[in-house]
Amino acid sequence: MALVNEHFLKLPNNYLFADIAKKVNAFKVTHPKADVISLGIGDVTRPLCPAVVEAIHRAAEEMGTSQGFRGYGPEQGYDFLREAILKNDFLTRGIHLDIDEIFINDGAKSDTGNIQELIRWDNSIGVTDPIYPVYIDSNVMIGRAGTLDNGRWSNVVYLPCTAENNFTPRIPEDRHVDVVYLCYPNNPTGTVISKKELRRWVNYALKNDTLIFYDAAYQAYISDPDIPHSIYEIRGARKCAIEFHSYSKTAGFTGVRCGYTVVPKDLTAATLQGERVALNPLWNRRQCTKFNGTSYISQRAAEAIYTPEGKEQVSSTISYYMHNARLMLEALRGMGHEVYGGENAPYIWMKTPEGISSWKFFEEMLYGPHVVCTPGVGFGPSGEGYVRFTAFGSHEDTATALERIRKWTR
Ligand SMILES: *Cc1c(COP(=O)(O)O)cnc(C)c1O
Repeated sequence: MALVNEHFLKLPNNYLFADIAKKVNAFKVTHPKADVISLGIGDVTRPLCPAVVEAIHRAAEEMGTSQGFRGYGPEQGYDFLREAILKNDFLTRGIHLDIDEIFINDGAKSDTGNIQELIRWDNSIGVTDPIYPVYIDSNVMIGRAGTLDNGRWSNVVYLPCTAENNFTPRIPEDRHVDVVYLCYPNNPTGTVISKKELRRWVNYALKNDTLIFYDAAYQAYISDPDIPHSIYEIRGARKCAIEFHSYSKTAGFTGVRCGYTVVPKDLTAATLQGERVALNPLWNRRQCTKFNGTSYISQRAAEAIYTPEGKEQVSSTISYYMHNARLMLEALRGMGHEVYGGENAPYIWMKTPEGISSWKFFEEMLYGPHVVCTPGVGFGPSGEGYVRFTAFGSHEDTATALERIRKWTR
């Protein structure tokens, strides 16, 4: 008899974005003439930049010649891309990494989900709350999260990030965490972490032998020069942190698929006997066994982001989105709303007025100004009483949506 992995059955059936789509569709059926604008989407909308498109064409042509054809590539990624990463994303910030510490992947979702394979099932995990759902769900699937009770997993330590603590997670003092997931700039709150706060986390990790999984998927949106782009800007982080990067939000690669993970060679975890084991060779082994590498064409596309033209074009797309973020911040603040984020990230996190629930406010926005936002509670218990707006729409839609919200608020 084949027995199923019953941990999967613990996952709640409701998937946040499916629930939203269902409610939006129900509204559209009863209001066929209404023009609904979505400020809820977590996907980019601007086209790939010309430098990337040219690189894709060139790589495709090359693959069509007998000299240029490539079959299976290195599981860790091609050196041309790993070198471009070392040089542009790290050396420019004074961070020296070895090429073998960079693992090219097909996006940060895969690796933030897969990385937990490296640690025993009974490690305790800490997450900032609200949170990108992949971190918890991937742990649920192998039985590390315990059971779900009232929206909380029994073996997960939730570190609330709310307006009350300025969205800065408190270092856990009452309960030890073996592994902690941090994501900055943050999805969904759009807030960032200062170097000083991040240093506190690194020091905590070094002192308590805690492993940090650091998701830097939105680092390209940072405009404030004092905000760290990488956890390795903090001394000692090489001994306690794995970092995830993605070209999805940086350069519109959600459909192209490419990103990378940094696993420093100094990073170790303990066996039950107390022996230290380096994680870099384990991750390499894992990838060689289960991952076939990102396509050559996607990697050439990613390399093009680091050319002078690519950098300029990517940065102009980011400016496009951040213009929306500014519009939203100004307009919503002008209406008297409490809003956060949106300065170094493409997300605006807004407190619902008069303490109404996330889902109630979501429905009011849908039925009133016909604007879709994302209910904050969908990202975790501390998201209750908030909604998320994204800056990934067009200028026109964003301006129209804000105008409608303004009229409706009056
Ligand atoms: C979008 C996103 C990612 C990136 O996912 P990809 O698999 O690279 O497309 C990773 N982490 C967070 C928090 C995200 O919002």
